[in-house]
Amino acid sequence: MASLSLRNVYKIYDGNVTAVKDFNLEIADKEFIIFVGPSGCGKSTTLRMIAGLEDISKGELYIGDTLVNDVAPKDRDIAMVFQNYALYPHMTVYDNMAFGLKLRKMPKDEIHRRVVEAARILGIEQFLERKPKALSGGQRQRVAMGRAIVRDPRVFLLDEPLSNLDAKLRAQMRTEISKIYQRLGTTFIYVTHDQTEAMTLGTRIVVMKDGVIQQVDTPQNLYDYPC
Ligand code: ADP
Ligand code: ADP
Repeated sequence: MASLSLRNVYKIYDGNVTAVKDFNLEIADKEFIIFVGPSGCGKSTTLRMIAGLEDISKGELYIGDTLVNDVAPKDRDIAMVFQNYALYPHMTVYDNMAFGLKLRKMPKDEIHRRVVEAARILGIEQFLERKPKALSGGQRQRVAMGRAIVRDPRVFLLDEPLSNLDAKLRAQMRTEISKIYQRLGTTFIYVTHDQTEAMTLGTRIVVMKDGVIQQVDTPQNLYDYPC
Protein backbone atom coordinates (compact mmCIF):
# COMPACT_ATOMS: atom_id res chain seq x y z
CA MET A 1 0.00 0.00 0.00
CA ALA A 2 1.27 3.45 -0.88
CA SER A 3 2.20 5.47 2.13
CA LEU A 4 2.55 8.64 0.07
CA SER A 5 1.60 9.62 -3.49
CA LEU A 6 2.52 12.74 -5.39
CA ARG A 7 0.52 13.09 -8.58
CA ASN A 8 1.36 15.71 -11.21
CA VAL A 9 2.61 18.03 -8.46
CA TYR A 10 3.83 21.52 -9.35
CA LYS A 11 5.21 24.37 -7.27
CA ILE A 12 5.18 27.76 -8.90
CA TYR A 13 6.52 30.46 -6.59
CA ASP A 14 5.16 34.00 -6.83
CA GLY A 15 4.53 34.50 -10.47
CA ASN A 16 7.02 32.56 -12.46
CA VAL A 17 9.59 30.39 -10.65
CA THR A 18 8.59 26.79 -11.37
CA ALA A 19 10.49 25.04 -8.59
CA VAL A 20 8.84 21.63 -9.07
CA LYS A 21 7.32 20.44 -12.30
CA ASP A 22 4.95 17.51 -12.89
CA PHE A 23 6.36 15.47 -10.01
CA ASN A 24 4.97 11.92 -9.86
CA LEU A 25 6.01 9.43 -7.23
CA GLU A 26 4.38 6.56 -5.33
CA ILE A 27 6.14 5.70 -2.11
CA ALA A 28 5.38 2.37 -0.45
CA ASP A 29 5.31 1.82 3.31
CA LYS A 30 8.78 1.39 4.82
CA GLU A 31 10.71 2.76 1.87
CA PHE A 32 13.74 4.96 2.49
CA ILE A 33 13.50 7.49 -0.32
CA ILE A 34 16.41 9.80 -1.05
CA PHE A 35 16.08 13.06 -2.98
CA VAL A 36 19.35 14.10 -4.61
CA GLY A 37 20.27 16.73 -7.17
CA PRO A 38 22.07 20.05 -7.51
CA SER A 39 21.26 22.98 -5.28
CA GLY A 40 18.04 24.69 -6.37
CA CYS A 41 16.58 21.63 -8.14
CA GLY A 42 13.48 21.58 -5.93
CA LYS A 43 14.31 18.99 -3.25
CA SER A 44 13.44 21.14 -0.24
CA THR A 45 10.37 22.56 -1.93
CA THR A 46 9.06 19.04 -2.52
CA LEU A 47 9.73 18.06 1.08
CA ARG A 48 8.05 21.23 2.34
CA MET A 49 4.98 20.57 0.22
CA ILE A 50 4.74 17.07 1.68
CA ALA A 51 5.02 18.54 5.18
CA GLY A 52 2.40 21.18 4.33
CA LEU A 53 4.81 24.06 4.90
CA GLU A 54 4.38 25.14 1.28
CA ASP A 55 1.16 25.12 -0.74
CA ILE A 56 0.94 22.85 -3.75
CA SER A 57 0.32 24.97 -6.86
CA LYS A 58 -1.12 22.12 -8.90
CA GLY A 59 -1.53 18.36 -8.52
CA GLU A 60 -2.39 16.06 -5.65
CA LEU A 61 -0.67 14.78 -2.55
CA TYR A 62 -2.02 11.72 -0.76
CA ILE A 63 -0.95 10.29 2.56
CA GLY A 64 -2.30 6.75 2.46
CA ASP A 65 -5.69 7.17 0.78
CA THR A 66 -6.28 10.68 2.04
CA LEU A 67 -5.92 13.74 -0.16
CA VAL A 68 -4.01 16.16 2.07
CA ASN A 69 -3.49 19.22 -0.16
CA ASP A 70 -5.59 21.30 2.23
CA VAL A 71 -4.72 19.52 5.50
CA ALA A 72 -2.74 21.61 8.02
CA PRO A 73 0.86 20.50 8.76
CA LYS A 74 0.04 19.46 12.32
CA ASP A 75 -2.81 17.25 11.12
CA ARG A 76 -0.67 15.33 8.62
CA ASP A 77 0.66 11.98 9.75
CA ILE A 78 4.18 13.24 9.10
CA ALA A 79 7.11 14.59 11.10
CA MET A 80 10.00 16.64 9.74
CA VAL A 81 13.61 16.96 10.91
CA PHE A 82 15.23 20.22 9.84
CA GLN A 83 18.81 20.89 8.80
CA ASN A 84 19.28 23.59 11.45
CA TYR A 85 17.51 21.43 14.12
CA ALA A 86 14.97 24.21 14.88
CA LEU A 87 15.02 23.51 18.63
CA TYR A 88 13.46 25.96 21.10
CA PRO A 89 16.45 27.43 22.97
CA HIS A 90 14.52 28.33 26.13
CA MET A 91 13.09 24.81 26.55
CA THR A 92 14.73 21.72 27.97
CA VAL A 93 15.39 18.71 25.78
CA TYR A 94 12.40 17.03 27.41
CA ASP A 95 10.11 19.94 26.63
CA ASN A 96 11.45 20.27 23.10
CA MET A 97 10.54 16.65 22.50
CA ALA A 98 7.19 16.92 24.28
CA PHE A 99 6.10 20.16 22.63
CA GLY A 100 4.48 18.75 19.50
CA LEU A 101 2.56 16.20 21.54
CA LYS A 102 1.28 18.82 23.98
CA LEU A 103 0.15 20.86 21.01
CA ARG A 104 -1.90 17.85 19.96
CA LYS A 105 -3.33 17.54 23.46
CA MET A 106 -1.91 14.10 24.13
CA PRO A 107 -2.31 12.89 27.75
CA LYS A 108 0.75 13.67 29.89
CA ASP A 109 1.55 10.09 30.84
CA GLU A 110 1.56 9.06 27.18
CA ILE A 111 3.79 12.05 26.32
CA HIS A 112 6.14 11.02 29.10
CA ARG A 113 6.27 7.42 27.92
CA ARG A 114 7.08 8.48 24.36
CA VAL A 115 9.72 11.06 25.29
CA VAL A 116 11.55 8.63 27.56
CA GLU A 117 11.38 5.84 24.98
CA ALA A 118 12.67 8.09 22.16
CA ALA A 119 15.43 9.41 24.40
CA ARG A 120 16.46 5.84 25.14
CA ILE A 121 16.55 4.91 21.44
CA LEU A 122 18.68 7.99 20.74
CA GLY A 123 20.93 7.68 23.80
CA ILE A 124 20.06 11.12 25.18
CA GLU A 125 18.30 10.13 28.43
CA GLN A 126 20.95 11.90 30.49
CA PHE A 127 20.36 15.22 28.71
CA LEU A 128 16.61 15.58 29.18
CA GLU A 129 16.89 18.49 31.61
CA ARG A 130 19.48 20.38 29.58
CA LYS A 131 18.86 23.30 27.27
CA PRO A 132 19.97 22.94 23.62
CA LYS A 133 22.89 25.34 24.07
CA ALA A 134 24.46 22.88 26.51
CA LEU A 135 24.54 20.13 23.87
CA SER A 136 26.97 19.23 21.09
CA GLY A 137 25.92 19.33 17.45
CA GLY A 138 25.38 15.59 17.35
CA GLN A 139 23.31 15.68 20.52
CA ARG A 140 21.16 18.51 19.14
CA GLN A 141 20.62 16.47 16.01
CA ARG A 142 19.41 13.58 18.16
CA VAL A 143 16.97 15.85 19.96
CA ALA A 144 15.65 17.05 16.61
CA MET A 145 15.15 13.43 15.59
CA GLY A 146 13.60 12.65 18.95
CA ARG A 147 11.04 15.35 18.43
CA ALA A 148 9.99 13.60 15.23
CA ILE A 149 10.14 10.06 16.65
CA VAL A 150 7.77 10.81 19.56
CA ARG A 151 5.08 11.69 17.04
CA ASP A 152 5.20 8.11 15.71
CA PRO A 153 4.34 9.39 12.24
CA ARG A 154 3.60 7.42 9.13
CA VAL A 155 6.30 9.30 7.24
CA PHE A 156 9.56 10.95 8.38
CA LEU A 157 10.94 13.85 6.39
CA LEU A 158 14.59 14.73 6.85
CA ASP A 159 16.06 17.77 5.09
CA GLU A 160 19.86 17.40 4.99
CA PRO A 161 19.87 16.44 8.66
CA LEU A 162 23.61 15.81 8.87
CA SER A 163 24.98 18.67 6.80
CA ASN A 164 25.93 20.78 9.83
CA LEU A 165 28.05 18.02 11.36
CA ASP A 166 31.73 17.31 10.77
CA ALA A 167 32.71 14.30 8.66
CA LYS A 168 33.35 11.93 11.55
CA LEU A 169 30.11 12.68 13.34
CA ARG A 170 28.26 12.58 10.04
CA ALA A 171 29.43 9.02 9.45
CA GLN A 172 28.41 8.07 12.98
CA MET A 173 24.96 9.63 12.70
CA ARG A 174 24.47 8.00 9.31
CA THR A 175 24.83 4.62 10.95
CA GLU A 176 22.54 5.78 13.72
CA ILE A 177 19.85 6.88 11.28
CA SER A 178 20.08 3.55 9.53
CA LYS A 179 19.49 1.77 12.85
CA ILE A 180 16.59 4.04 13.72
CA TYR A 181 15.03 3.38 10.35
CA GLN A 182 15.37 -0.40 10.81
CA ARG A 183 13.95 -0.17 14.26
CA LEU A 184 10.97 2.08 13.52
CA GLY A 185 10.06 0.39 10.25
CA THR A 186 8.52 3.61 8.94
CA THR A 187 8.74 5.46 5.63
CA PHE A 188 11.64 7.91 5.40
CA ILE A 189 12.11 10.68 2.84
CA TYR A 190 15.56 12.15 3.05
CA VAL A 191 17.19 15.05 1.20
CA THR A 192 20.96 15.03 0.89
CA HIS A 193 23.92 16.25 -1.15
CA ASP A 194 26.03 13.42 0.17
CA GLN A 195 26.55 10.52 -2.21
CA THR A 196 27.53 8.13 0.58
CA GLU A 197 24.38 8.91 2.53
CA ALA A 198 22.29 8.37 -0.59
CA MET A 199 23.93 5.07 -1.47
CA THR A 200 24.06 3.59 2.02
CA LEU A 201 20.70 4.73 3.39
CA GLY A 202 18.33 4.75 0.44
CA THR A 203 16.11 1.92 -0.75
CA ARG A 204 15.30 4.16 -3.76
CA ILE A 205 16.93 7.32 -5.00
CA VAL A 206 15.06 10.12 -6.77
CA VAL A 207 17.42 12.19 -8.90
CA MET A 208 16.09 15.71 -9.54
CA LYS A 209 17.20 18.48 -11.86
CA ASP A 210 15.52 21.83 -12.51
CA GLY A 211 12.39 20.75 -10.63
CA VAL A 212 11.97 17.58 -12.67
CA ILE A 213 12.60 13.95 -11.76
CA GLN A 214 15.44 12.64 -13.92
CA GLN A 215 15.62 9.11 -12.60
CA VAL A 216 14.19 6.92 -9.85
CA ASP A 217 15.99 3.72 -9.02
CA THR A 218 17.66 1.60 -6.37
CA PRO A 219 21.17 2.63 -5.27
CA GLN A 220 22.49 -0.56 -6.85
CA ASN A 221 21.08 0.25 -10.29
CA LEU A 222 22.13 3.89 -10.15
CA TYR A 223 25.58 2.80 -9.11
CA ASP A 224 25.89 0.27 -11.93
CA TYR A 225 24.53 2.67 -14.53
CA PRO A 226 25.43 6.18 -13.41
CA CYS A 227 23.65 8.95 -15.31
P1 ADP B 1 16.92 22.53 -3.35
O1 ADP B 1 16.32 22.11 -2.06
O2 ADP B 1 17.04 21.42 -4.33
O3 ADP B 1 18.21 23.25 -3.18
P2 ADP B 1 14.73 24.41 -3.43
O4 ADP B 1 13.52 23.59 -3.38
O5 ADP B 1 15.18 25.09 -2.21
O6 ADP B 1 15.91 23.56 -4.05
O7 ADP B 1 14.53 25.53 -4.55
C1 ADP B 1 14.01 25.24 -5.85
C2 ADP B 1 13.84 26.54 -6.63
O8 ADP B 1 12.82 27.34 -6.05
C3 ADP B 1 15.08 27.43 -6.67
O9 ADP B 1 15.14 28.04 -7.92
C4 ADP B 1 14.81 28.42 -5.58
O10 ADP B 1 15.48 29.62 -5.84
C5 ADP B 1 13.32 28.60 -5.68
N1 ADP B 1 12.71 28.96 -4.40
C6 ADP B 1 12.81 28.29 -3.23
N2 ADP B 1 12.10 28.86 -2.27
C7 ADP B 1 11.53 29.97 -2.84
C8 ADP B 1 10.65 30.99 -2.37
N3 ADP B 1 10.22 31.00 -1.09
N4 ADP B 1 10.27 31.94 -3.24
C9 ADP B 1 10.68 31.92 -4.51
N5 ADP B 1 11.49 30.99 -5.03
C10 ADP B 1 11.91 30.02 -4.20
P1 ADP C 1 4.30 21.70 31.83
O1 ADP C 1 3.99 22.44 33.07
O2 ADP C 1 5.40 22.36 31.04
O3 ADP C 1 3.14 21.32 31.02
P2 ADP C 1 4.43 18.89 32.31
O4 ADP C 1 3.78 18.63 33.59
O5 ADP C 1 3.84 18.54 31.01
O6 ADP C 1 5.01 20.38 32.28
O7 ADP C 1 5.68 18.04 32.36
C1 ADP C 1 6.80 17.74 32.04
C2 ADP C 1 7.82 18.38 32.94
O8 ADP C 1 8.36 17.42 33.81
C3 ADP C 1 8.89 18.90 32.06
O9 ADP C 1 9.20 20.22 32.42
C4 ADP C 1 10.05 18.00 32.28
O10 ADP C 1 11.22 18.76 32.41
C5 ADP C 1 9.73 17.24 33.54
N1 ADP C 1 9.92 15.79 33.48
C6 ADP C 1 9.03 14.86 33.76
N2 ADP C 1 9.55 13.65 33.68
C7 ADP C 1 10.80 13.79 33.32
C8 ADP C 1 11.86 12.89 33.08
N3 ADP C 1 11.79 11.58 33.18
N4 ADP C 1 13.03 13.38 32.72
C9 ADP C 1 13.16 14.67 32.64
N5 ADP C 1 12.20 15.57 32.86
C10 ADP C 1 11.04 15.15 33.21
